[in-house]
Amino acid sequence: MTEVKHIIFDLDNTLFDFNACWEKAHRQIFFERGFDQFTTYDGFMTIYRKIDALLWEKLLAKQITLADLRRQRISLTLQTFNLDFTLLEGDAFYQDFFQLLLAELQPNQQVIDGLKELKVDYDLVILTNGLIEEQQAKVELLGLTDICPIYISEAIGYEKPDLQAFEHVMSANQFQPEQTLMVGDSLTNDIEPAEMLKMKTYHVTDDIISCLEKIQQGTFIT
Ligand SMILES: [Mg+2]
Repeated sequence: MTEVKHIIFDLDNTLFDFNACWEKAHRQIFFERGFDQFTTYDGFMTIYRKIDALLWEKLLAKQITLADLRRQRISLTLQTFNLDFTLLEGDAFYQDFFQLLLAELQPNQQVIDGLKELKVDYDLVILTNGLIEEQQAKVELLGLTDICPIYISEAIGYEKPDLQAFEHVMSANQFQPEQTLMVGDSLTNDIEPAEMLKMKTYHVTDDIISCLEKIQQGTFIT
């Protein structure tokens, strides 16, 4: 078996629990905006998630942009409760929501220490989909900026699962695919494309601390 020398980490839902922060920030803004006068939080989120899923399909088909998705998601959800919400208000809603999400982020010392330990034996990089400003704000709040290079899809011009996103990172760091381990939570965005490139993979389904320990011990399955 070829030895792993380099590790590429995904960020959202891999190095921190993005879903939990997303949920908390939505709960908070729902009550802050007084939407509880019209519906329950669970009722609101059921519709919101359905609309989100439909809009993601359109986004992946390149029929709408990410900004469209964010403003339409809230506007269309509120329309189902007969509330008129302009797309401009949709933009402001997203901005407020994102600030609440950022407020949930804080450094996790165990993750930082785990990565620093791995850094002794491996070259580490983070490869994340998203906007530069937003992903940068996240890594800063998580205390991850100084640990390793961070590649953001908006900056490199390729978004996972596009193989070119992985190839960009590997060629910039002179990583050989057989010697590289891809660590991520998404089968479609992280694991499958990495396997197509003959990289080793670690699908994160557990908490990140135990994943980092397993990688450290070399007991990950690939
Ligand atoms: Mg992820």
